[in-house]
Amino acid sequence: MENVKAAPCNGLLMERSPSSLYLQCSECREETRHRILRGRYEGKKNRVLNLVAECSVCNCVHHEVLRDEKEVVVPVMISDGKETISTDVSLGEDTVLKEGEEIYTPDGLRNIITAIEAGGRRLYHTRAGEVDTLWLKRMEEVVVKFSVNKGSNTISREVKMHYDEEVSVGEILVLDGRDSVVHRIKTADRIVYDGSVRAEEIVRVYARVVKKKWS
Ligand SMILES: [Zn+2]
Repeated sequence: MENVKAAPCNGLLMERSPSSLYLQCSECREETRHRILRGRYEGKKNRVLNLVAECSVCNCVHHEVLRDEKEVVVPVMISDGKETISTDVSLGEDTVLKEGEEIYTPDGLRNIITAIEAGGRRLYHTRAGEVDTLWLKRMEEVVVKFSVNKGSNTISREVKMHYDEEVSVGEILVLDGRDSVVHRIKTADRIVYDGSVRAEEIVRVYARVVKKKWS
């Protein structure tokens, strides 16, 4: 058996058309060895292979078009809490990347695309082959509960945060489009009136709506 795989054929296309390939037969549906009767490279950068192939099971001769998607190494910067990790990921060069989309890094962790830099500009979406740097945020999220006081009303809100992100007493957060100042934070074993608590330790954050002051 030849050590070749059926389409899609990452890295398969070479300078010369191969003499045989494993392909799925359009007649007998077998994934089997095909003798290549004719092969021609076409398309941009010669990465489309036009074939006439003969099935070794039913001897039917059929036409195949194979596309070779080259792998590219994309530099990535992953923001993980306070750290920024510099690494890279291998992607098919035609893979479309979009800001806000999820992407898994080789370590199996989930990330969100926060920015795409390509050709010295920031793009909302583009193909992996165009990307200079991909900016990611590691999404190991926890849900943080907030009680927000406005006058005599208290509303509850749940906010997704990175587990390592901190909430500080005195910090102003935007909740429901309103600036709210944190006045205490409840954890499993204490109430914090001063300082910061990591999101994963928070049981509830107490805040109240404030009016913006411009100095
Ligand atoms: Zn066949």
